[in-house]
Amino acid sequence: MPSTSPSTCMSPFAIVLAGLTAFASTPASSSAQTVEPRYSEEVRALTANAAVSAALERAEELDPWALELLIELTEIPAPPFMEDERGERFAELLTELGADSVWTDGEGNVIGLRRGSRGERTIGFGGHLDTVFPEGTDVTVRQVGDTLFAPGVGDDTRGLVVVLSVLRALEEAEVETEDDVLFVGVVGEEGLGDLRGMKYLYRDDGLRPDVWIDVDGGGLSRIVSMGLGSVRYRVTFQGPGGHSWGAFGTANPAHAMSRAVRYFQDVADTLTRSGPRTSYNVGRIGGGTSVNSVPFESWMEVDMRSESPASLARIEEAFLAAMDRGLREENELRREGPALTVDNDRIGDRPSGEMDPSTPVVQRALATTAAFGVQGELARSSTDSNVPIALGVPAVTIGRGGVGSNGHAPNEYWIDRDAYLAVQRALLLVVAEAGFAGPIS
Ligand SMILES: [Zn+2]
Repeated sequence: MPSTSPSTCMSPFAIVLAGLTAFASTPASSSAQTVEPRYSEEVRALTANAAVSAALERAEELDPWALELLIELTEIPAPPFMEDERGERFAELLTELGADSVWTDGEGNVIGLRRGSRGERTIGFGGHLDTVFPEGTDVTVRQVGDTLFAPGVGDDTRGLVVVLSVLRALEEAEVETEDDVLFVGVVGEEGLGDLRGMKYLYRDDGLRPDVWIDVDGGGLSRIVSMGLGSVRYRVTFQGPGGHSWGAFGTANPAHAMSRAVRYFQDVADTLTRSGPRTSYNVGRIGGGTSVNSVPFESWMEVDMRSESPASLARIEEAFLAAMDRGLREENELRREGPALTVDNDRIGDRPSGEMDPSTPVVQRALATTAAFGVQGELARSSTDSNVPIALGVPAVTIGRGGVGSNGHAPNEYWIDRDAYLAVQRALLLVVAEAGFAGPIS
């Protein structure tokens, strides 16, 4: 029980809200979003319900447990493509906490099914298992005062803890939903993982949850309802190579690549000056063996992003045309030896798209956030929700709570400042979306 034991008819949740004035007065959002009255009403009815209110109270009481769990899971390494060990522990926890059935799918996603009373729809609710940190990174949690320092402690280990906390609170308060809920630890969100877990979940014959609620990113106010799309390439120009004097006239991969980049930028600059926001970046360049050798290989890595799928397709097309032109012209200039080749390896493809703000899951995300006196702000980002959003499946990404920073850096930290509020908000959103069926009989 919390220290403020409810002795009156006031619901415990009302007491929680009464203590929120300081939180609510912190500056939140600049872009106000309208919540339709029926969704605010739905949330009011849920919070007034004794069973839901008990679950929200449990969510707060579980905070010390959640903190211990965060440390435990953070210290299980989960480098890209190596999430197995953390996934196994996540699966054990899903079972212990009461999921009806638990399994790991063909890509490595760990899934716990909690059956609803009707089970007509399936709500997916997940965080990502992987971190950006390579094998061998020290993931020991260092505690300084109330601050936890460790690679991955916030992104997205705390997200996994929110998912598990919601399951535990629903189970212990015996809240039943109408629809089935899948509690998911998703693989491959970061970097070259390229959303592989979600792509598998939403493949043609995949489970394809009807709605996706993702936990990733910061505090309460930011609600990602728009997916920022990107494509990434690793381009390799190859040729025979040779001595810079002796083999002069041999086709030069570095020269070809330089031309290609120049032609790409000529077009890309125009494409990104107007219309939906679009970007391009040659991020890494390499190759060659010495200053007096014609390289046998030159390579680069390129990232392109856009708010709009059509703009992304256009800049990608311009990019590929420029690579061809650079190759062709260098081969035409060559005075001896075989022609160069180019390999355009598409190493990243994150689809884009956006949810209409009137979509029920977006409205519910805003309404449940407003219940905490916080104005939700709809945002665009690249998260696991990109995959369902691009397919037209309703999805949002909500924050993991607390205060944190330095994500993707070794000095990442996270502080448990009223972090249980994010668990309560996530719980309300899951129950609102899955439909409240009553206490388990
Ligand atoms: Zn993340």
